[in-house]
Amino acid sequence: MGTAGLTIALAGNPNSGKTTIFNNITGARQHVGNYPGVTVERREGARNFQGQNLVIVDLPGTYSLTAYSLDEIVARNFIVEEKPDIIVNVLDAGNLERNLYLAVQLLELERPVALALNMVDTADKLGFKIDDKKLGQKLGVPIVRTVGNRNEGTDALLAAAVNAASVQQQPIRVDYGDDVEQKIALLTQELETVEDLKYPKRWLAVKLLENDSAVNENVAALQGGTKLLLSAEQARSALKTLCGDDAETVIADRRYRFVGEVFRDAVVKDDGAENFSDKVDKVLTNRVLGLPIFLVLMWLLFNFVFTVGAYPQEWIENGVGLLGKFVGSHMADGDLKSLIVDGIIGGVGGVITFLPNIVLLFLGISILEDSGYMARAAFVMDRVMRFAGLHGKSFIPMLMGFGCAVPAIMGTRTLENPRDRMVTIFVIPLMSCGARLPVYTLLISAFFAPDVAGTVLFSLYVLGIVLAVIVAFIIRGSMLKGDSEPFVMELPPYHMPALRSVLMHMWERAVLYLKKAGTIILAVSIIVWFLTSYPSEVDFTKDYEGLTAAADTAFTETVDQKVFAPLAAELLVAENAEEQSALESLTAEVDDVYAEFEEQTAELKAGSAELAALTTSKDEKLKQLETDNEKLYPLVAAFMDEKDKIKGVSEQIAALDTQFEEESEELEEGSAEFLALETEKDAKLTELEAENQKLFPLAVQYHELQSEHNEQIAQLEQQQASEKIAGSYAGRLGKMIEPVIAPLGFDWKIGIALITGFAAKEVVVSTLGTIYSIGEADETSAALKATLLADPTFSPLVAYALMAFVLIYVPCLTAMAVIKRETNSWKWTGFVVVYTTALAWIVSFIIYHGGQALGF
Ligand code: GDP
Ligand code: MG
Repeated sequence: MGTAGLTIALAGNPNSGKTTIFNNITGARQHVGNYPGVTVERREGARNFQGQNLVIVDLPGTYSLTAYSLDEIVARNFIVEEKPDIIVNVLDAGNLERNLYLAVQLLELERPVALALNMVDTADKLGFKIDDKKLGQKLGVPIVRTVGNRNEGTDALLAAAVNAASVQQQPIRVDYGDDVEQKIALLTQELETVEDLKYPKRWLAVKLLENDSAVNENVAALQGGTKLLLSAEQARSALKTLCGDDAETVIADRRYRFVGEVFRDAVVKDDGAENFSDKVDKVLTNRVLGLPIFLVLMWLLFNFVFTVGAYPQEWIENGVGLLGKFVGSHMADGDLKSLIVDGIIGGVGGVITFLPNIVLLFLGISILEDSGYMARAAFVMDRVMRFAGLHGKSFIPMLMGFGCAVPAIMGTRTLENPRDRMVTIFVIPLMSCGARLPVYTLLISAFFAPDVAGTVLFSLYVLGIVLAVIVAFIIRGSMLKGDSEPFVMELPPYHMPALRSVLMHMWERAVLYLKKAGTIILAVSIIVWFLTSYPSEVDFTKDYEGLTAAADTAFTETVDQKVFAPLAAELLVAENAEEQSALESLTAEVDDVYAEFEEQTAELKAGSAELAALTTSKDEKLKQLETDNEKLYPLVAAFMDEKDKIKGVSEQIAALDTQFEEESEELEEGSAEFLALETEKDAKLTELEAENQKLFPLAVQYHELQSEHNEQIAQLEQQQASEKIAGSYAGRLGKMIEPVIAPLGFDWKIGIALITGFAAKEVVVSTLGTIYSIGEADETSAALKATLLADPTFSPLVAYALMAFVLIYVPCLTAMAVIKRETNSWKWTGFVVVYTTALAWIVSFIIYHGGQALGF
């Protein structure tokens, strides 16, 4: 380290641009938003400037140093107790008068201060002509014009701040009027006798008159403190009789008056200037139009997330699928392969697929935030929130909850009334956060048509808001009664969202999401894989191995009888009875050689040395048979050739079938395109028939028998796999809770997914992925979507009830931890867990049964 560091604190009203300037100075990427309450805890960053090491502290916004809300207390404590070397007060030039109120209080602390006259661009547009030199002279501190979002004036501000630390500033004196000044003088005199004061005497005197509880506590601890408090008490009551108002109110009034004078001296307002924000607000916050406009904007956002997200989602999906296949084909069968392919790639890969949707959601949210619209949304929702006994200010943390409940819950610190704060914390988990999005996206794309997808998604978010309002209403009317406060939040001017900040926000979210996928979701995927794969020995209800073997034998026999016997009758004809029987036994021998070869090589890779050896040995055996039976062997060889040809043609028919199925998958039966494909397929079949004339009918028959056989085996495998999962630990767990969720139309598999969703909501997707990929019969089966679609438990109605359940039931672990910290109560945290889960059950029940009654 070089020279000892200077600490610079950034203080100012909410939304004045502190965090923007903090980012400009430090190069950090703290989140900025065009509404109050984004920074709720102080942040630190470092910067080397002109050879000095600076520590920059970004504080939460505060309107005054008489602290009310939690985040104001954080800011004040830092400024008053930790005494930064320099305070940079960031002023919103467009709202200068109100901002100066805090500035004056900071100056009264008699500490080095520099002012950042920020947002001068907006002030210009609003028609304010600010004489910053005059303002600086009046206040006795350096002042620098800045435009935070364009990083203008940052270095000049730093230079002024660093300089302020080394020069002695002349403290300003607010004239509080003779009556008050007299009392201040009295108290200041008494303070003369106290040693080791940590604060300026005049400031302490004013604070004592204001009855500031924190200062009172401090003074009480001093020697002679009790006597001082007594004098202050007397002075206050004297002032009250003198002025007819509380001393605090009188002092605040006079301070405002002082601020007003300073403001009018330095600023001229050109009233003719156009005010863009006011005009737009006439429409967006209109009493009638405001709410519908808000809803339409949200609807557009969710459609955008869904429609645009579908493309990159498909690419990632394909990538994950290929990775699974690639890894699967390069590993030996066994537990490790299953863990990696089914557990990890199936689980984590399934969740990563939804990254584009998350990023787009945050793109939309940050544009709404940064443009200033979010603050309007709160204003518009004020009336609705009032019904619930809250006010619009509570809606801002709730809106943040669309992103993630954790910052949203922290954001409630801006609420002054503790009851409002508690209720808001309780309902924030009902706001649908980004983690639920993957669950919705998966289920919606599986069960709903693309043209309604966005609307279905939108309906879930609205459901969350409606439930939040109802729950708040109930809690506010019962457990946490009390009056609500008037709405006092100013609307920041609109501005173009800053590209950098929007992109940064998206990037941060993407990184967070991937981190989550790599940690919590990975861990849970492994646990889920374990729970679904063990115990590996399950008592099956049927002897699956025996049944499979029997099916194989039956297939071979039928094929011999129906396909190959007619062929043999034609080709394997000898001259006399003796030769005929020799011919038959030779055929059997050759058959055996082939069968043995196939059995031995079934598991071997092409090109391996073992395969080559076995091939040579087979060929030698055949050669031997040929030399031993010179006359009869050609007949057998011809027969074998024909057999091979039949199998080959049958394979070609199968390939045509598969191709047709794949290509026509998304088409409607009977549509022109569908018919065209069908004609094409028929033409190819006719061609095949022409090429193979006599063989063709036999090949068709072989193909039919083969398909039937494959189906039979697949069914057996499917049954066995689902019996295996049902018998696993997870299956038992799911079965245990099945009775509770069966009334919602959910089965035990959904039960397992819901249990794991306690950790993080995205895990519901990865659990379904793991369960269904282990249950899957063949490795080439389509994506999870298709598998879900094939499961008889699921229907669009069940899918919707499930999405509602996932929306409402318990907040994730991290959110619960934050609720515990912010409410400081296990009881209330427990309450949230219980009420959300109960509510989820009730709502899903209503959706499921209501939907059934309506015929869905
Ligand atoms: P904080 O609450 O004081 O930390 O304020 P932020 O740094 O979060 O900024 C609030 C909003 O004002 C953000 O949307 C910024 O992009 C925007 N902003 C910051 N500085 C300026 C400025 O000088 N001019 C304009 N027009 N906008 C700004
Ligand atoms: Mg901030």
